[in-house]
Amino acid sequence: MQINVSQLLKEPIGATRDYQVSEIVDVTGDGNGRKVQGEIRLLRTHRGILVRGVLRTEVELTCSRCLTVFNCPVTLNVDEEYIPTVDVVSGVPLSSPEEPGPFIIDEHHVIDLTEAIRQYSLLVIPMKPLCREDCAGLCPNCGHNLNQGPCGCPLKEVDPRWSELSKLL
Ligand SMILES: [Zn+2]
Ligand SMILES: [Zn+2]
Repeated sequence: MQINVSQLLKEPIGATRDYQVSEIVDVTGDGNGRKVQGEIRLLRTHRGILVRGVLRTEVELTCSRCLTVFNCPVTLNVDEEYIPTVDVVSGVPLSSPEEPGPFIIDEHHVIDLTEAIRQYSLLVIPMKPLCREDCAGLCPNCGHNLNQGPCGCPLKEVDPRWSELSKLL
């Protein structure tokens, strides 16, 4: 997801641009594109361009209880300052910012939001994802997904019918 900011870099501090985002991005780096939608505002700052906005996408997660793979919607509150690497007017390379990071404006004055979207997605993924709040999980005995109904395994308590049977034996 790339935005050319050469015009905005030439504008005074405080200038803004608003963008509607609706793009397919490989959010988790697994080769599967995901739709990313939302609005972002680019603000010309003293150092570079501040990117702010709310983006919505979904990531593929594995439920920690039933191991089903499911799509989890996530909201990303992006707030990152991108620092130019070359002077927009003269084309002279600028000294790199003190704190190293991926959030730079490249030599063509392009901001690439893909890396930020990936990093923000990683931050919002739950530690123990659940496919749904009340996921019933797997039967510890046969591994059946109990969200799809009972599996027929005998319950822990001995079924009365079985005790009658064992008497006969
Ligand atoms: Zn589940
Ligand atoms: Zn079972």
